[in-house]
This record gives sequence, C-alpha cells and structure tokens, in this order.
Amino acid sequence: MEMLSARQLSRELPEGLPFYASQGQECRLFEQAHASRLPLLIKGPTGCGKTRLVEHMAARLGRPLVTVSCHDDLSAADLVGRHLIAGGDTRWCDGPLTRAVRQGAICYLDEVVEARKDTTVVLHPLADDRRQLPIERTGELLDAAPGFMLVISYNPGYQNLLKGLKPSTRQRFVALSLDYPAPEVEQRIVRAESGCTAEQAARLVRLAQALRRLTEHDLEETASTRLLVMAARLTVAGLTLGEACRAAVVDALTDDAETAAALAEVVLAVV
Ligand code: ADP
Repeated sequence: MEMLSARQLSRELPEGLPFYASQGQECRLFEQAHASRLPLLIKGPTGCGKTRLVEHMAARLGRPLVTVSCHDDLSAADLVGRHLIAGGDTRWCDGPLTRAVRQGAICYLDEVVEARKDTTVVLHPLADDRRQLPIERTGELLDAAPGFMLVISYNPGYQNLLKGLKPSTRQRFVALSLDYPAPEVEQRIVRAESGCTAEQAARLVRLAQALRRLTEHDLEETASTRLLVMAARLTVAGLTLGEACRAAVVDALTDDAETAAALAEVVLAVV
C-alpha cells in the first residue's frame, strides 16, 4: 500500500513548517500584506484551509501566532485585557490582542463576525495606518511592534445579513477569498494529512464534489476538506471507506434521517 507522510509530500518546506498546499497566489498575497503592514481578511467556507494558511504563513514569516476563536460572547475586554484581583491587589492582565501587538505577532481572529460589536472599535485604529491599540482601562496607547499583523476570517456562507462586517471595518482590510481546493490539490491534502492511498484520496474527493453539488442549497455546511481528512484518517485506522464516510461526513453534516439517507446513497454510489 502506498503511504506518504505530510513531510514527504511537502519536501520543499523547511523542518517544522505546518503543511499547506496552496490554491493559488494566497501565500504571496499574505507575504506582501505583511511586508506592507496591511491587515488581511480571509473569506471562505468552514474547513477549507483558512487556519492552516495562517499557521503556515506565521511560521514562514518567523512570527509568533496568537489565535482567537471568536464567539458571540467575546467582548473587547476579552481581546484587550482586564484588571484582575489577586490577593487584595489589582493588576492589569493583557488579553491576546494586546500580547500580539506588544510582541509583533500575527493575531488571527477566527470567525470575527461572531464577536460582539464593541470588538470592532478596538480593531479600527490597529487596522489602519495608525497601527495603534488604545487600552482604555489603563490609558495606554500602544504602537504595534514591527512584524505585527492582524488577520481576520469569516465564512460568508452562513452569515445572516445583520451579522456581516460593517463596511467601515472591512474596507480597512486586504481581502482574500478561499474556496475548497481544486481536486488534485485536495487529493494531495487528504493524502498528506492522513497517510491514505492515492486511490482512497481520489474517491473521497470525488465524493466531496458530488456532495457539494447536491448540498449547496439544502445544508448549512457541506463536505469540507476537514471532513475528508477525518474520513481518510478513519480509513487508515481500519474502517472501510463507506463506514468512515458515514461517521465523518454524513452524520457530521446532518441530524435529519431523510437527508442522511440521501447523503448515504451518494456515498454508496461514489466510494
Ligand atoms: P478553516 O480554518 O477554513 O475552517 P482549517 O484550516 O482548520 O479550515 O482546515 C481544516 C483541515 O483541513 C486542516 O486541519 C487540514 O488538515 C486540512 N486542510 C484544508 N486545507 C488545507 C491546505 N490547503 N493545506 C493543508 N491542509 C489543509
């Protein structure tokens, strides 16, 4: 059985660099945005490689990476920091964004539209020419250290209109659109991330394409590269492709019995 590790498939990469198979010019754009001190907005469906791209580029640019997964309760104070009371003393504790600004790190805010509206207020002066973070509670105005870069991502697919980014926010960012990779690239990713065979990867990618055509309008999410990698890993662990797809793809995508049955039929037909 033919097995390839991520390292073998990405031989050109230096030791320790997270594997990322590019879809086009995104690595160059990222590099240039960083060199030009511009913030970056990455758009794309769930599981298409946004986070991996940021991890790869942070390592390539030699910058520390601070990642924050945004949720609907995330406030500006969670990003910037707050006063903590310890043993009767009050001391200031930097939040992840402040740490990144001081260190000159890449700060990645994943699914930024989920965060509370007050967070965008602190992002604005950081995302334009000022590159400053005002810390209201301490009265500090921090200049971003060299190398600092703000990267935000969101999935335009399932945002309701109210939730989208405000034009005044998004116009501060250089935008980059990712989608699911082309079949050859996706096969390479599935092999590299799981160690499955070329044949198994080809079948899984064929399945994803069939499901993406079918589910485009019915489901909130469709078969992502992440789900294919999970199915491939289960296959390497000993499940049949069909069993792996049922667990990692079909049941992961829907709770509805009828939809699951329809998806399972596609699995039977394709893998
Ligand atoms: P997103 O942030 O868009 O939701 P991720 O970057 O977390 O998605 O990707 C999910 C998984 O899919 C990764 O952990 C990786 O295994 C795989 N993956 C997706 N795209 C790529 C890619 N271009 N190169 C390498 N791995 C990828």
